Amino acid sequence: MVDFQGILNSIHDDLKAEEVKGIVASYIPELSKKDVNTLGLFMQHVDGRSFSAGDAFTPFSIQSISKVLALSKAIAYEDNKIWERVDVEPSGNPFNHLSLLELENGIPRNPLINSGALVIADILVSHLENPKEDFLNYVRDITNDQTIKYNFKVADSEESTGFNNFAAAYLLKSFNNLNNKVEDVLDFYFHQCSLEMSCAQLSKAFYLFANGGKCMKGKKHITKKQAKRINAIMLTCGFYDEAGEFAFEVGLPGKSGVGGGIVALLPNNFIISTWAPGLNPRGNSLIGMQALEQFTSQTNLSIF
Ligand code: GLU
Repeated sequence: MVDFQGILNSIHDDLKAEEVKGIVASYIPELSKKDVNTLGLFMQHVDGRSFSAGDAFTPFSIQSISKVLALSKAIAYEDNKIWERVDVEPSGNPFNHLSLLELENGIPRNPLINSGALVIADILVSHLENPKEDFLNYVRDITNDQTIKYNFKVADSEESTGFNNFAAAYLLKSFNNLNNKVEDVLDFYFHQCSLEMSCAQLSKAFYLFANGGKCMKGKKHITKKQAKRINAIMLTCGFYDEAGEFAFEVGLPGKSGVGGGIVALLPNNFIISTWAPGLNPRGNSLIGMQALEQFTSQTNLSIF
C-alpha cells in the first residue's frame, strides 16, 4: 500500500524549504497580495480516502481552473456542438495570446485559453437563467459544498484591468462567435475566474472527471465519453504554453490557474490539488509543478 500521507508530508517539507518560489501574479491587482511561501496539497482517492499537507483548506482564487468546470457544464448542454465554435488543439501560446492565427476565423484553438473560455462562457450565458448564480450552484453541487463563493473584489479587479479579455471578446464578436453581449459574457467570465476554492474543494470538484462523469455523491453530470474528452483537453491544453512540459514532468491531465493552483488527476484513481502562489515565467505555479512531479515519481502513478 502506498504511503500517500507520508509522501505528501515529505514533499511539503522539502518544498517549503525551497528558496526559489516564483513570482505572485500582479496583472490582476487583487492577486498580488498572496504570500509566496504558502503551500497546500490535497489528494482525494476515488475510493474515498483523502490526504492533505500544509494549507490545503484555505480558499484561493482558482482563476483558469474554473475553465474546466465551465466546460463541463457547457458540454452537458451542447455535447459535440461545442466543437463547431472552439477547436481542441494545444496552442503553444500564452493563455491570453491574441493573434488572428490563434482565433483562426474566429475559432479559438481550445476551450482552456482565454478566447476559448470566452466562447464557453457565452454558451453558459445563453443556457443558464441566472448565469452567475446557477454556475455557482453547479460548482457547489459537484463539490458537495455550499460554502464556495465568488470573490467580488477579484472579479472587479479583473473587470477594471482585463483589457486583453475585452479585446478577445470583441474580436470573437466580430467573427460572430459570441451570441450574447460582450459585457455580459465578460462579467460572467470574470466572476467564474474569481471563484475561491481550497485544494480540498478543488479535488472534490474534479472527482467527476476521474470518475467517468459522476461526482462524489454518485450523481451523473456528464457522460463517460465527455469526461474522457475533458481529460484529453486538460492533458494537451491545461498549462498554457507549457502543457508539454507538464506532461513530461508530471504525466497527468490537469489545469493550472494564475492564482497558483493546480489540479491534476489519474482517471479511476485519484485527484490531487496544489496551491503555491509563486508562478514560473509561463504562468504556472513553480512549486506546484515540482510537488506534482515529485508525487507522480514517488508513487509511480501517472497515465504513462
Ligand atoms: N482570469 C484570468 C485571465 O483571464 C485567468 C488567467 C489564468 O488563470 O490563466 O486573465
